[in-house]
Amino acid sequence: MHMENKFETNAIRTQLERTKNLEHSVPMYMTSSFVFEDAEDMRASFAEEKERNVYSRYSNPNTSEFIEKVCQMEGAENGFAFASGMAAVFSTLAALLDSGDHVLSARSIFGSTHSLFTNFFPKWNIDHSYFKIDDLDGIEALITPKTKIIYAESPTNPGVDILDLEALGKIAKKHNLILVIDNCFASPYLQQPIKFGADLVIHSGTKLMDGQGRVLAGVTVGKKELIDKVYRFSRITGPALSPFNAWVLSKSLETLAVRVDRHCENALKLAEFLEGNEKVNWVKYPFLKSHPKYEIAKKQMKAGGCVVAFEVKGGLEAGQKFFDSIKMLSLSANLGDARSIVTHPASTTHSKLSVEERAETGVTDGMVRVSVGLEHIDDIIADISQALA
Ligand SMILES: *Cc1c(COP(=O)(O)O)cnc(C)c1O
Repeated sequence: MHMENKFETNAIRTQLERTKNLEHSVPMYMTSSFVFEDAEDMRASFAEEKERNVYSRYSNPNTSEFIEKVCQMEGAENGFAFASGMAAVFSTLAALLDSGDHVLSARSIFGSTHSLFTNFFPKWNIDHSYFKIDDLDGIEALITPKTKIIYAESPTNPGVDILDLEALGKIAKKHNLILVIDNCFASPYLQQPIKFGADLVIHSGTKLMDGQGRVLAGVTVGKKELIDKVYRFSRITGPALSPFNAWVLSKSLETLAVRVDRHCENALKLAEFLEGNEKVNWVKYPFLKSHPKYEIAKKQMKAGGCVVAFEVKGGLEAGQKFFDSIKMLSLSANLGDARSIVTHPASTTHSKLSVEERAETGVTDGMVRVSVGLEHIDDIIADISQALA
């Protein structure tokens, strides 16, 4: 549509064709089904001889607009939009995997994705192994004849580690595997995994894409022939995104670049402040020079993202005391919101893991994860500073 334009312009100017009302802003198509001109139109539509909307479980103008924007941002051929990020993860993998297949995944992945691999996929005889993100050479040793997909996230949650996407892309290509990247932490503005060899990119639209903590959504974009399979599976199983949420998200994407720029600017300032604080053991942020993968982060990301992790001196007790002293920041599990959020992974999202499992995902007792929002940075720092004191 507007491929020759820049990211920000496409995000704003990609929109559905105007109706005869000549609306400036795209209307909401709150309709479950669509009508046919006549019997022949109906027959041809059901036979999929024409591309048109039939039923909103399959497609809807608002979801199509949202998908088109994400495809442009990620440099993808096609996509499908889902009711949540987890619906995207599940449907994408379920559409591509057969009984007997094996998934090779990074260990540091979103908690529910980990549960999918460990608690549910075994029901369908789908196996997995985890590779350590610091051991890219070890990955090839874990590939078996049954391996079909390599799955990873970068930056990781909550450890804010960085995976070398280009290296992963090369391994996937060499072994003819499908590389699936959950790009939710970076957003398509900061990082486009397809450039580095990913075949499919998944987002939870709930995070930076919406950016204001309003709607749940997910989207998968990538190679046409893979998306076709995802579409076939999803039009039958019904995880479709609602037109209302698609409309909200398509609007949100108009401001993604400016919002994420500010998120990153604030996050870097907070990370730099924490790095010099005597109450803090360590700070992790991809665009801090002290980050072990700083060079790779610089290579594959435009900026460091909205999440900063750090460890309060004094372990669990000090961590909990820190949280009880927070005044403005929200104690919540979400991220990528205009409101800054602090979480304590060891006592919440990662409390069910063993100490070793926690260590493997980068979680320590005194670790704090901050999703840095869009409030004035002075106020964010002031709240964290007084809580540390
Ligand atoms: C939140 C999140 C998901 C799941 O998204 P929902 O919209 O909550 O279902 C998947 N992956 C990552 C990295 C996430 O942060």
